Amino acid sequence: MTLLEIDLKKLEHNYHSLRKILNPKSKMIGVIKANAYGAVSESIAEKLVELGTEALAVAYVKEGIKLRQFGIKVPLLVFYPQIENFRDIILHNLEPVLYSKRSWEMFKKAVKEEKKSAYPIHIKYNTGLNRIGFQTDEVVWVLEQMKKSYFKVKSVFTHLGQTETPKPNKETENQILLFEQIMQKHNQALKQKPEYHLLNTSGVFNYPNYHLDWVRIGIGFYGFANHPEWNDALKPISQLKTRITQIHEIKSGETVGYNCGWKAFKNTRIAVLPLGHADGFSRQYGHGKGWVLINGQKAHVVGNVCMDMVMVDIGDIPCNEESEVVVIGDGIRADELAENAGTISYELLASLGNRIPRILIN
Ligand SMILES: *Cc1c(COP(=O)(O)O)cnc(C)c1O
Repeated sequence: MTLLEIDLKKLEHNYHSLRKILNPKSKMIGVIKANAYGAVSESIAEKLVELGTEALAVAYVKEGIKLRQFGIKVPLLVFYPQIENFRDIILHNLEPVLYSKRSWEMFKKAVKEEKKSAYPIHIKYNTGLNRIGFQTDEVVWVLEQMKKSYFKVKSVFTHLGQTETPKPNKETENQILLFEQIMQKHNQALKQKPEYHLLNTSGVFNYPNYHLDWVRIGIGFYGFANHPEWNDALKPISQLKTRITQIHEIKSGETVGYNCGWKAFKNTRIAVLPLGHADGFSRQYGHGKGWVLINGQKAHVVGNVCMDMVMVDIGDIPCNEESEVVVIGDGIRADELAENAGTISYELLASLGNRIPRILIN
C-alpha cells in the first residue's frame, strides 16, 4: 500500500529554524493552500498555530472554510478569493486579499449586505509579476477608498517573481523599489501605519533586510527553500512509501508498459508498484526521469507511468514482492526528483492525490 508519512516533529524543526533567521519583529503567515502543499492542511494548521504562527493563508475560500470548520481560530487570509464566494468569506470570518477596483467594490457590497463594518482585509499590489494585484498607479484610488469605514486594512503586500535567484537581481530590486514607493505613499496618507509584507520562503533567506512586519512561508515549513544552502536548515516533512505488488523476470528484447514504452536490452527484473499518474506520480517521471529507492538502491522508472501503477527496473537489487519502496523521502528529495523531470518540488508535492492515505507521525 502507498502511504504519505508526515512528520510533525520535522515541521516543528522547520518552524524553529525559520523563526531563528527571521527578524524578531516580523510575524509569520503560514501558507497551507493546496492541502498544505499536498500534505494534510488541518493537522499542519493546528500544529503551526500551536507553535506560534500568527496567521495562516489559503488560496481559495473553500480551503479556508474547511479549516474554520475544523476549529482553526487565527486570522486566515484567502490569497485568491473569487467574487462569487465573497459572502462565504464573511460568514466564515476569513480575510480576503483585495486586488482590483472590481474586487474592492464587490467586497464592499458584500460587507454592506451583511451589515458589517471595519471588516479585515489585505491589499495586494502588482509590482511586476503581473499575476493579481492593484497596479501601482492605483494607489491614489486605494488611499481615497481607505478613508471610508467598510474595511480595516490589516496589511498591504506584493509578491516577488524570483526570490530564489542569486543576488543581485534587477527584476527583484525593481519590484522592491516599487513596493517601497507604495509603502511611502500609504505611510504619508494615513494616520495609522498599515503592516507590510513581500517575502515568501526563499525571500526570507535571500532578502533578510526586507522581512518587514510579516513574511509568507509555505514550502519552507514543508522542508524546502529552493537553494542547497538554505535547504540545509530544513527537513522535508513528507515521505512517500509503497510496497512492491509484483516482480517479473524480463528477457532481453521484451517490452514493458503501454505503447511498448521500454525495451529490455538484457535480462532483468521489473517491479510493479501501486502508484500512478492519478496519484500525482505523473508521466513526466516515466522513461528513466524518475526513480525510487529499494533497499537503499536506485531503481529507475521504465516506460510510461500508468494511471494506477508504475514499473521500475530492479536488476539485481535484493528485494521481493512486499519489499518497501521509498518514492520520496530519505535518499530521494522531492526537489531533485522534480528537477530531473523538468518540474519543481511544489508541483510534485501539491499533486499527490487524495487516494494516498496520510499518516501523521508525532
Ligand atoms: C503560495 C504563496 C506563498 C508561499 O510561497 P513559498 O515559496 O511556498 O514560501 C507566498 N505568497 C503568496 C502570495 C503565495 O501565493
